[in-house]
Amino acid sequence: MSFVRRLTHVQEQLAIAGIDAALITPGPDLRYLVGYEAKPLERLTCLVVRVGADPVLVVPALEILAATASPVGQLGIDIQSWQETDDPYALAAQLVGAASVVALDDHMWAQKVLDLRAAMPNARQVLASQLITPIRMRKDAEEIAALRRAGAAIDQVHAKVPELLRPGRTEREIGIDIGNLIIAAGHVAVDFVIVASGPNAASPHHDVSDRVLAIGDPVVVDIGGTMPDGYRSDCTRTYHLGAPSSEFAASYAVLLQAQRSASAAVHPGATCAHIDAVARDVLTDAGLGELFIHRTGHGIGLESHEDPYIVAGNHLPLAAGMAFSIEPGFYLAGSYGARIEDIVICTDDGVESVNAQPRELVIALGT
Ligand code: ZN
Ligand code: ZN
Ligand code: ZN
Repeated sequence: MSFVRRLTHVQEQLAIAGIDAALITPGPDLRYLVGYEAKPLERLTCLVVRVGADPVLVVPALEILAATASPVGQLGIDIQSWQETDDPYALAAQLVGAASVVALDDHMWAQKVLDLRAAMPNARQVLASQLITPIRMRKDAEEIAALRRAGAAIDQVHAKVPELLRPGRTEREIGIDIGNLIIAAGHVAVDFVIVASGPNAASPHHDVSDRVLAIGDPVVVDIGGTMPDGYRSDCTRTYHLGAPSSEFAASYAVLLQAQRSASAAVHPGATCAHIDAVARDVLTDAGLGELFIHRTGHGIGLESHEDPYIVAGNHLPLAAGMAFSIEPGFYLAGSYGARIEDIVICTDDGVESVNAQPRELVIALGT
């Protein structure tokens, strides 16, 4: 979908919802709508999208060149700049005009929300996600291609993880190596590197620590980065230093089945809650349900975590183009943990995984 179509779509949604304008500050929505990757800073940069009028980008004067060099320039979007002593909030309010409802970027800083409220005291503020999320959730062909490239890049990293896992190395040392591999594989940024070994594997959002790996450790490696086009990767594999206990191996076999079953259940019309239940039921039937302490997945795109969320209670039906993780796990505090995560895309008639590294427990021999 072109930026023009995305903007038109938002204008249509504004009209339908009876909202006068959407105000979008630097972040994933701005990048999605006009391709401008501006840094979120204290000075106001704000795309003003109105019904029946062309969009305008308000930027600090010192960022005119950056804005013009972005797709905003090629799109011919009107750029209105403000000097250091001007009031940019008054400028935004003037562009919006008399308004009763304005939609604000979900990622907007609270300071800007309040300054915009003061500049437009008669306008009720609502979240712009109600207009933009339904569009962003359905990835178009270019976005799907971008997610496939991101998936292939992080797969390359996982392929090299076993050779990094050796007794005597710390999680942090391994994490630094993995970060370098993430960049070498084509990402422009490392978003997160979780190397959770031994009992640390029981903490799903463990980072890295100075814990030294030893034979007998499970090692959960959950990693992701940002590609040059802004799309994200996110993939988890669980490794084991030396042979696992029979208890761990048995639980892992159930986890693998849960991950496969939930992925296989993805098709248009299935609800997010259903996909979560499929994964959870497999673990629950094996007595592991209480150890699966988080939702099954999250959407991904220009953000690592975005809609749709694969969680109980979310009755949103899946539709072709939705991209999200399927990442069940089991976590036994003080002992061990495991997780398997792929990014999948709901297709017209089923599912496609952008990750292809083997999902079986990888035994690292540590030699
Ligand atoms: Zn997470
Ligand atoms: Zn994830
Ligand atoms: Zn992850």
